[in-house]
Amino acid sequence: MAAMILDGRAAAAEVRNEISRSVAQFTTAHGPIRLCSVLVGTDAAGLLYADSQHQRCLQAGIQHERVQLPESIDQAGLLAEIDRLNDDPGITGIMLHMPLPSHLDEAVAQYRIDPYKDVEGVNPANIGWLFYGEPIIAPCTALAVIELVRRSGHTLRGAEAVVVGQSRIVGRPISMILSMEMATVTACHIATRDLAAHTRQADILVVAVGKPHLVGAEHVKPGAVVVDVGINKVAVTGTDGRPAHRTVGDVDFDAVAPVAGAITPVPGGVGPLTVMMLLRNTVEAARKQLERRV
Ligand code: NAP
Repeated sequence: MAAMILDGRAAAAEVRNEISRSVAQFTTAHGPIRLCSVLVGTDAAGLLYADSQHQRCLQAGIQHERVQLPESIDQAGLLAEIDRLNDDPGITGIMLHMPLPSHLDEAVAQYRIDPYKDVEGVNPANIGWLFYGEPIIAPCTALAVIELVRRSGHTLRGAEAVVVGQSRIVGRPISMILSMEMATVTACHIATRDLAAHTRQADILVVAVGKPHLVGAEHVKPGAVVVDVGINKVAVTGTDGRPAHRTVGDVDFDAVAPVAGAITPVPGGVGPLTVMMLLRNTVEAARKQLERRV
């Protein structure tokens, strides 16, 4: 039987409607939700992303502003700007665009963002609260993965889950949330001796590595839910015979789809939903600021 396709774009459209309703209710009761994107330098991809974020916020009824800092800003200057935004009661969410120029310490800057305004859920304090099982704001990609697994209809409680990749912001938080949902979780990484021996046990297989087609049919148990977080640009020859690029995941979709029970495509799977989770977190951040516990 063909695998169910976990369509991230369709899921994102549904979540977008929910978010718009939540924003309207919150705004009526408590005033506007306002997200501030902080960009350092003029990286073209960063500017493009901030522009599309601006549009998505406005569509959802969230106010959005951009703070553009010079590439030459030093660490103290960046931290002072983050402090200013933390202290501004009119700003309910802060997103610091990565990568920062190499002379700036990303972890220190992320740590400075008020955990209640950290809409990406990347502040080490937010990762810590997640570890405690009492998250304030969780990382967007992990939330998107869990949302897609839920939409597959597969029960998390008691499931064998294998997560390939253990980065701080993606792989580990995914493992953590799956474990909180009472799945039995195995985390695989660069030192895993026999990857396929582990992944073939998985009812739920999440791959977040950044290596095109790392996972093939031989890695997948028949009927498993396969969530591909990877985003890789590979060189191809365009229809006009010129060099071009194609975006692929970490999973060989064509090989795995006939084996899996459900699978996310790349593009169009985790990516679009991650963007929506950022907006959902933006609403959640505003709400949680009303009832701070630390
Ligand atoms: P990362 O920081 O480079 O981490 C990659 C992880 O994969 C590391 O934990 C590494 O293990 C592990 N790994 C590397 N080679 C491996 C192998 N051969 N077998 C098993 N594990 C291996 O990357 P990331 O930030 O987590 O991102 C992972 C991928 O997800 C990238 O393609 C990124 O573009 C994509 N991504 C997508 C979204 C989305 O919304 N769809 C969001 C964020 C990231 P060690 O720790 O042991 O070195």
